[in-house]
Order: sequence, then C-alpha cells, then structure tokens
Amino acid sequence: MPVDNLSDLIEKVKRQLQYFQSLGVEGLNIQWQKEQIAPVSQKSELLSQLQQEVARCQKCPLHLTRKTTVFGEGDVNARLMFIGEAPGYWEDVQGRPFVGQAGKLLTDIIKAIGLSREEVYIGNIVKCRPPENRNPKLEEMESCRDYLHQQIAIIRPEIICALGTFSAQRLLNTKLPISRLRGKFWDYQGIKLMATFHPAFLLRSPYKKRDVWEDMKKIKACLQQGSQ
Ligand code: SF4
Repeated sequence: MPVDNLSDLIEKVKRQLQYFQSLGVEGLNIQWQKEQIAPVSQKSELLSQLQQEVARCQKCPLHLTRKTTVFGEGDVNARLMFIGEAPGYWEDVQGRPFVGQAGKLLTDIIKAIGLSREEVYIGNIVKCRPPENRNPKLEEMESCRDYLHQQIAIIRPEIICALGTFSAQRLLNTKLPISRLRGKFWDYQGIKLMATFHPAFLLRSPYKKRDVWEDMKKIKACLQQGSQ
C-alpha cells in the first residue's frame, strides 16, 4: 500500500478512535494481522510524520514547560520495544529517551540479553517532561495515549517491555502494583507484554536487579523461540 494511502487510512482510524473515545469507549480489542504490518520505509515515513505532529503538540499543559519533545528512538522494525514513563531532565535537554544514569542502566540491561540499543525501540508513555520529574498525571497520560498507540501500531514489536508502574498500569489498564504485574507475559492487543521495574528505581533499589534479570531472561527466551 503506498505511503499516502496508508497515511490516509491511519488518519481515518485515528478519527474513528477519537469518536469512540468521545462516546466513552476506553479500549478496543484489535488483533493485528502480519500482512497489516508496513514495510520498513513506510514505517520510517509514518513515524517521522507522527514525530512532527508530537513536536507541535499542545494537548496538555506539559508543552508549556518542556524544552523539547522526546518522541522515542530505535529500530523501526524492532522485535522488542521498551516503554518507560516520561522524559527526565537530560531527556528533555537532548530530546532522546533514557539518557543519563537510568539510560545507561537500561543500555546495560539490553546488552545483557544480547541486543544493542539500536536493535530495539525505546519510548515513553508521555512525550514531554513533567516539571521537577514528578510523576505524570492521569490526564497527561490520557492526552498522550494516542501517540504511543500509533507508535506501537506502526512498529508492531513482538514483545513490549513496560518499564515501571505507570507504564505497566497504563498499557494494561489496571491499578495492580508493578510487583504483581512483573514476571509474566500479558497481552497488549495481540503483543506479549512483560512489565518490570524502572531503571531509575533500580538505581535506588539495586537489590531488585535480580528480579529484572529474571524478567529479561523470559524476554530473551521468547525472542529466541520466535526466531527458530
Ligand atoms: S505530553 Fe504528550 S499530549 Fe502532552 S503536550 Fe507533550 S506530546 Fe502533547
């Protein structure tokens, strides 16, 4: 399907979803088929269009205090996608996700399962930094939700790794604590989702690294199984 037609299609789906949202519908159980996944060039084009839209976004008050938007980065064809909560100070300055100490730890975690940052995709639930690194508010996450859903729909990873409470709870639409969510695979619209502790939390609580390693081993095994 040519890029223009695919963009039109995504625009129509977006409007339809906004219509459902206005009716109070909170989620749709959409199962994507392999043949619906766009080739790499189309994925890059669509992500670039979406990134430009995010850069202009003023849908929530976080646009007033951000230095830049942090869209996400990585392989558009990634089999594994990490989703954190929100940009912090250095992410806001550099416009890139997971830089600084927590980012370094995430890079090490990715390496530990035999991958590099360039081979995965890394994004966040909200694209603008909450002031003073406070937690993102529910209404901010709701305002930003559509961008993330479009990102996931374009990339179509085999596995999503939700980093931290807010990411896991928003993606799984639950209030269960991260300690109950981590350690097993959940379903996110036909994609396997593993929740685990946020790298910033691990910096404060290094004794939890063992749990994260257990979660990562499950992700690695699942990726290996998928490529056989
Ligand atoms: S956080 Fe998301 S919804 Fe809010 S201004 Fe930034 S891009 Fe827009």
